[in-house]
Amino acid sequence: SLEEVEPNFFTLSPDSPLRETIQRAYRWYSPRFSPCDVPRFADVGSITEEWSVMRGIRDFLVARYRNLPEPPTHIMGFDARGFLLGPMISVELGVPFVLMRKAGKNPGILIESEPYEKEYKEKKAEAMTIRCGSIGKGSRVVLVDDVLATGGTALSGLQLVEASGATTIEFVAILGIKSLKGAQLSHSYGNGRFSKIPFFALVDESVLTEANCGDTAGYNGPRIIGYREALSRI
Ligand code: AMP
Ligand code: MG
Repeated sequence: SLEEVEPNFFTLSPDSPLRETIQRAYRWYSPRFSPCDVPRFADVGSITEEWSVMRGIRDFLVARYRNLPEPPTHIMGFDARGFLLGPMISVELGVPFVLMRKAGKNPGILIESEPYEKEYKEKKAEAMTIRCGSIGKGSRVVLVDDVLATGGTALSGLQLVEASGATTIEFVAILGIKSLKGAQLSHSYGNGRFSKIPFFALVDESVLTEANCGDTAGYNGPRIIGYREALSRI
């Protein structure tokens, strides 16, 4: 069962078994042990490494979208971690999976979103693209990513669906960092043109407890160990 955290922003209720399953598996790392300077870097590998958690997420989302009166015609995933979740849903629903990527990684003629900034600042704002024609007019699209942070990535997805003449049914992520107000960014954008689009984060940052910290206590060595060094340690 779902809870509405704020208008059109949903999460699993605290007693949901899927929420508990995700909480048991989800690891986070402090900046010392993570690739980005965010307080808690949520490790999607801790989800993919637990196949039964992946299956739980897949089954839940497939049932959710299959049972809609008007089911999605496309699943669109965000580079790169949305690519881990989207295809397992799209193949079950029997609909295409569309790749949203930076222009430098997508072939063909592209539609590009407005530039946006992410939680972990890359050097400059970035834009996202999809291939022209990958989503047709009148399509109904579900957007998928692992984490909703500031919401810049999600907003570019909404723009690309809109600019294809299609509708976003829902944006879904495993984790929504509520305090960063990512759903609000899209809901308040452009005179509220996206204010009716549901955002759904299966869990929020309260699942990233101290017990879920993946940091190796007391480790003083380098974070990255080279091939030869690793070989010599076997
Ligand atoms: P944003 O555009 O700010 O909502 O950032 C979302 C994107 O950045 C997602 O595609 C995530 O993969 C990644 N991301 C942002 N914050 C985190 C975090 N704390 N842990 C892991 N990934 C994150
Ligand atoms: Mg990402």
